Amino acid sequence: MSRKRILAGGIAQESHSFNPVLTNRARFNIRSGAAAIASARGTNSLLGGILDAAERAGAEVVVPTLFRAQSGGPVEDAVFAEMRDMMCDAAKRGDFDAIVLPLHGGMLTPTLHDPEGALMASLRAITGPDLPMTVAFDLHAHVTPQILETCDLLAGYLTNPHGDQGDTGRRACRAVLDILDGRLRPVLSAVHVPMLTLGHDRTDEEPLMGLHARARAAVESGLAYDVSIFNAQQFLDVPGLGNWVLAYGNGPDAKRDALALELAQALWDQRRALIGTYPSLEECLDRAERGTERPLILGDQGDRVAGGGPGDSTYVLRALLARPGLPPSVVPLTEPEAVQACHKAGKGARVTLEVGGRYSTVAPPVTVTGEILGLGTEAQVTYDGPADAGYTAKLGAYAVLGVGKLRILLTDQPYSYLDPDYFRAMGVDPAEMGVVVTRSGYHFTLNFAATGECITVDTPGMTSYRVQELPFTVARPFFPLDEPDFKPALARLGRP
Ligand SMILES: [Zn+2]
Repeated sequence: MSRKRILAGGIAQESHSFNPVLTNRARFNIRSGAAAIASARGTNSLLGGILDAAERAGAEVVVPTLFRAQSGGPVEDAVFAEMRDMMCDAAKRGDFDAIVLPLHGGMLTPTLHDPEGALMASLRAITGPDLPMTVAFDLHAHVTPQILETCDLLAGYLTNPHGDQGDTGRRACRAVLDILDGRLRPVLSAVHVPMLTLGHDRTDEEPLMGLHARARAAVESGLAYDVSIFNAQQFLDVPGLGNWVLAYGNGPDAKRDALALELAQALWDQRRALIGTYPSLEECLDRAERGTERPLILGDQGDRVAGGGPGDSTYVLRALLARPGLPPSVVPLTEPEAVQACHKAGKGARVTLEVGGRYSTVAPPVTVTGEILGLGTEAQVTYDGPADAGYTAKLGAYAVLGVGKLRILLTDQPYSYLDPDYFRAMGVDPAEMGVVVTRSGYHFTLNFAATGECITVDTPGMTSYRVQELPFTVARPFFPLDEPDFKPALARLGRP
């Protein structure tokens, strides 16, 4: 039998409906062909997992292109179109046996509320209905009927904070190989739950831990081939926003249907418990002033770039400036104009700048005077992991401004600071700081666990879990903004 060829690629970004800054091409890591494969092989990423599973089975993976960016505002339509054309051109050549797409699932463009579904539909139109196609998504994907009807199997991360990127890619790839070998003819039991989880939704803690344990047991016992529980990106004002339970198996099965219904009901029953509470910033800074054994790594809940925020909120910066008694601290800020001004002034210069607060709705700009301690036009980050270990990303221009013991990292693009290497890449060692601010809510806790004590802080802003403060319209009704009548029902979706 000839060697199987698998087409893999696409685009991965998580969008925020209320972030007015569109995500442009410069924010993407774009890798194509052999370069995409070389940079993903051996990494804990979706594509890394796909490569691993395919190569173990003696199959070859072809990657026309993979666009990957951090969360932010909707992606410019032209960027999406460029990627889609590259994928479709490759699909038209037809020299492959199956498709596996490593995507995020929570992306938007100004004109598309389901771009992943649109990409899949474009590919399906080229390949016809019979070519096996599976997809791997983030746990915070926005799952749509179009997606479920276009692919043969959709696998989502099973961990939050996310540590199973590679395993999720392997699940999607194994499914496509099993379909090709005739071992799997997936039928889907799917239930939509009109709710959001808001912060108390780690999968290594209750209530989600128990739900995932039941899902895992169902797969281990053979009741289901694959089960995913999607919690949805919370800031998508799109039709049908909510959680999904997906259970795939071979052929129709009333027991598997019952499992999906049961998991959906359990999610709904736990909806109030899935809303988190966090310590205040003042509380955390009081502790830092008194002195802590390890650095405090603070997640700025209200302006998480990891949740699609602009990364220019000055809320934490103001509090740090107001406390000169704090140990050495570092806070990042998206500030393209200040970066330019620093590059003009040069290293060692003393400057007075107005920074931040351009897009953030809760924290206006701040005027700071400090010394330029570091400058760069690009830097490479290599994730320590464990999440996405080995993943490399390029940073654009930056400047490090020193104000007393405080370091302000000014960058021309927003970054989430999910990994300690973001700071080291700009010359600041987080291990030597007393307070380190990241633009993430909980994902940073995996990769910073070895550096310090990780705390998500209750700060206001575009990505705070106070969703009642956001202007949702089309996504409603959903809990907790509404209390819809809910009785779990199977959505008759999936491939015919
Ligand atoms: Zn996620």
